[in-house]
Amino acid sequence: MKQALPKKFNIFEVEEKWQKKWEEMGVYRFDRDDKTRPTFSIDTPPPYPSGEFHMGLVLNWTYFDIVARYKRMSGYNVYFPQGWDCHGLPTEVEVEKLHRIKKTDLPPDQFRMLCEKLVGKNIGAMKKAITNLGCSIDWTTEYKTMDPDYWRRTQLSFVLLHKKGFIYRGTHPVNWCPRCETAIADAEVEYETRTAQLHCINFELGDDGFLTVATTRPELIPACVTVAVNPQDERYRRYVGKKIRVPTTNRTVEVITDDLVDQEFGTGVVMICTYGDKADVKSVAKHKLPVITCVNEKGRMTQNAGKYVGMTTEEAKKAIIEDLKKEGLLEKIEPTNQEVSVCWRCHTPIEILEKEQWFMKTRILSSQVEKNALEIRWYPDYMKHRLIDWAKSLEWDWVISRQRVFATPIPIWYCKKCNEIILAEPNWLPIDPRIENPKIDKCPNCGSKEFKPERDVLDTWFDSSITCAVHAGWPDREDWKRLFPADVHPSGVDIIRTWAYYLMVRHLALFNEKPYKSCLINGMVLGTDGRSMHKSFGNYVASQEVFSKYGADATRQWVAGGGATGSDIPFRWPDVEYGWRFLIKLWNAARFVCTQLKDYEPKENVKYSLQPLDKWISSKAEKLTKKVTDALETCQFNIAMEEIRNFTWHVFCDCYIEAVKDRVYKPDFYGKEKREAVQRTLYTVLYRILQLLAPITPHVTEEIYQIMYAEEKSHKSVHLCPWPTPDEKHVDEEAEKRGDLIMAVITEVRREKAEKRMPLNTQIKKLTIYAGGKDMAEMIVEGRDDISGTCKVADIEVLSKKGDGREIKDYSDIRFFAEY
Ligand SMILES: [Zn+2]
Ligand SMILES: [Zn+2]
Repeated sequence: MKQALPKKFNIFEVEEKWQKKWEEMGVYRFDRDDKTRPTFSIDTPPPYPSGEFHMGLVLNWTYFDIVARYKRMSGYNVYFPQGWDCHGLPTEVEVEKLHRIKKTDLPPDQFRMLCEKLVGKNIGAMKKAITNLGCSIDWTTEYKTMDPDYWRRTQLSFVLLHKKGFIYRGTHPVNWCPRCETAIADAEVEYETRTAQLHCINFELGDDGFLTVATTRPELIPACVTVAVNPQDERYRRYVGKKIRVPTTNRTVEVITDDLVDQEFGTGVVMICTYGDKADVKSVAKHKLPVITCVNEKGRMTQNAGKYVGMTTEEAKKAIIEDLKKEGLLEKIEPTNQEVSVCWRCHTPIEILEKEQWFMKTRILSSQVEKNALEIRWYPDYMKHRLIDWAKSLEWDWVISRQRVFATPIPIWYCKKCNEIILAEPNWLPIDPRIENPKIDKCPNCGSKEFKPERDVLDTWFDSSITCAVHAGWPDREDWKRLFPADVHPSGVDIIRTWAYYLMVRHLALFNEKPYKSCLINGMVLGTDGRSMHKSFGNYVASQEVFSKYGADATRQWVAGGGATGSDIPFRWPDVEYGWRFLIKLWNAARFVCTQLKDYEPKENVKYSLQPLDKWISSKAEKLTKKVTDALETCQFNIAMEEIRNFTWHVFCDCYIEAVKDRVYKPDFYGKEKREAVQRTLYTVLYRILQLLAPITPHVTEEIYQIMYAEEKSHKSVHLCPWPTPDEKHVDEEAEKRGDLIMAVITEVRREKAEKRMPLNTQIKKLTIYAGGKDMAEMIVEGRDDISGTCKVADIEVLSKKGDGREIKDYSDIRFFAEY
């Protein structure tokens, strides 16, 4: 070994250097022409370019980068693409703020350009963070969903699904965010428990008194279409079929029965409004009730609300309560806990509005979703139920149209005269109907030559739910099925119902095939105080702060070792620091090894005279290989991390290296062969450690590999070295038994010195060991050189009989006596 490892180890320089070199060397390129190795494709989720690569993404990306690196070393031709899911409302809002405009102030294409510029800047920052984390992405695959070339694919998928009958336009109740002013899908609705006021309001029954209705939303009274009671409820049976006046209006409605009414809730009398919640939607369909819309897209009261028109729902609520009080119809108000449906982006309570929208038929696929979810592998396994339960719980189809600007346009026009729907042909794509006309002369239905564009755009999830096919090369590459379905789809536990679900239904509908063979789920990152990490909680840590303090290899150890895959992982500075200290330990051990190997030439087919401890560590390294391989095969990163770190730190550094130092320092005393045996063992075991660690700490392992092993191993990177195959044949239980005993003796003698406050290199004039049996004595004699060398013993005597002295831990029959 000609080169030495420098004493000073600057992880930041090392990481930056290799990130640059890997890219120049093309270490992580997918080789399309290689038909010999099996492929392994990762469905990297294109992140939303918010500009910040937060710790949650660090967790996510580290997981599948470990998988990518492990698979690459295991002989796979790994396809690890990276894209950006650009469209979406937050960018629109930020552009409006930045330029002090409203999106309607500019033509859509000009507003779009401003959005694209902002997204481009944000992508730059996030790309830097992914690079700093050391992800082994093939950057030649980079794409953006806002590029027309990606639109083409999104629009093509729309056209094909339309032709297959999966897409329809219809007027249905949809979830509507009045702040974002757009329809949103069920998956974008979250539930929050809030305290609310339950209002008990008297609805008059002509001259027959009144019924008391309990509601948390009196502002919806103008939209009340019926009052319902449970058919089993004796209290109200005689009122069924009677007319009842809707307070604050001149309308009367009929009292009906509905077995969905909970007799125990409030008074047992409910008003059905269009729409207060999903239950109202069901009742309207069931009883064929009319629809009175009293809240508009902006969350303000409509003409149908009479005198309350123009008010916000909050204002209307106050005004209606005042009016009810005046009329003497407000019985009482009491506090209650209520589950409120809110928009997941802005947490505004949603309204349910009846709107004409585009939908994708997703519920007809639910049984197929379940079948496929059961067939694919989940890490961890129980996560599959999240997907299945979600698919089964859906009551509505997926509303895919949005009322926004910065999104993929829907490739549709309408005939101005007869309203015929004109669907784009695949060869027109990409196309923006708001700018271009359909490429036909006249309406196929009525012959009119005038068209109006669809101004609605597609849900961002419609872009990102075809990535498995797009990554594989669809629709341009004939051989795209070679990489489809993806081998693994990684996802956060919080987006199974969106990302994993939409991918599943879209690919099933388009190709009648599941999109991925396995699903790797990560939990959430919790803040330093154990609560979920959030800027407003004061427990937020930015990834760049962690990188700049300890570097990527330490951060990645926190991810890998933080907890079981799929569970929430708390962010802890001490964990990252521990990772950092481990790197220094590894570096110093490698430096020692490197120094001892100056005159070592690795040779195959040489019979080394391996001593018990050499065989012992080699056998343990084999067992470790098996454990780490098994753990990585099943994505149990924390087990892999723990095993390899314990072995390196405690078994290799603290035990083996300490125990063989004397042997390697003094060939004249012990003989050249015994020194060569140590050199051989250090060389092979350190190499094994580097191989096993490479997926988790890619930078430090590369640096050591390049200095110490690259020349002999002739792989241009440690990340292209073959993964070591665990081989039971190399496990030597007998050698481990002997080595364990010798190590126990050494450890106990050193412990005694420490207890007596003696330096570890204090000479022992004579060490007498009572082995308590012939077999044990023989084993100790075999390790005599290493014991006396390490413990600085001048004269060692091993007796097979039992005797007095200090007991050796875990070997109650063996005792020793040291004379200093
Ligand atoms: Zn919203
Ligand atoms: Zn027409």
